[in-house]
Amino acid sequence: MKKKAALFSLTILLLFLATGLTACNERNRIFRYGYWEYIVVGKESRIPKNKNDSVIAVVGLTESGAEQLALDVPSAINGTEVAYLGFEKYDIAINYYTLTSRNLLRLYIPENILSIKPYVFESLSAPDAKTIYNGAAEPSVHFSSSPEIYVYRELYEKIKSKHADCLDEEGSTDCPSCPWILETFVPANVAFMNNYSAAVNRGYFRAEDVESGEKIPEPPAPEREGYVFTGWYTEAEAINLWDFDTKTEIPDGEELRLYAGWKKL
Ligand SMILES: [Zn+2]
Repeated sequence: MKKKAALFSLTILLLFLATGLTACNERNRIFRYGYWEYIVVGKESRIPKNKNDSVIAVVGLTESGAEQLALDVPSAINGTEVAYLGFEKYDIAINYYTLTSRNLLRLYIPENILSIKPYVFESLSAPDAKTIYNGAAEPSVHFSSSPEIYVYRELYEKIKSKHADCLDEEGSTDCPSCPWILETFVPANVAFMNNYSAAVNRGYFRAEDVESGEKIPEPPAPEREGYVFTGWYTEAEAINLWDFDTKTEIPDGEELRLYAGWKKL
């Protein structure tokens, strides 16, 4: 009788462990698209609640992705919006996806990514790897990010002043992002302006950051309906074309702005 009872409790225990672990273990299927590995998640949960509740989390690089020196995270894959960079592997947030590359020097993040998950950049191991966020609003970060994230100088100033008063005298705060927000974001020293509408991404097209004596990488050509793009200029009036062979010297704390030139079709 004792043996039976023991066996019974053991069975229950095993059943409990098996179902419990399977529930935690339910993984998202990893898909591949060009340079990217991605999963489909819900807008507010790891597993989509229904067909309409799907957004994409970019969670890794394919072999060819890991060979690239510069990459633009896509804003959509097969028509589904990319909303997250990185993600939790399980519901218990102890294990995260990471982008892994020894070669990548620049990772450009589009404005529609509103949440950058912990550890996603941890395995970008090129010594000068830079991650650059191209949105004009503060994305949510839940942990100190390494490497840091470059943002437009205007956004950096906004983030800095928004969180300046969060900490009280004891250094504690109710603000969930405060402990790491100021060490995560750094101001970028180059801004490409779309030069036609302040309503589109607050007038920005792309942020960039260069060291002293480095050339500014040429961004992909912007698009505007009814116009042809004519190049990047040093002033909004589009008079002097920027030469991308120029090695730049941008004084500390300053920003170089380049403006898109447009010709009406
Ligand atoms: Zn804060």
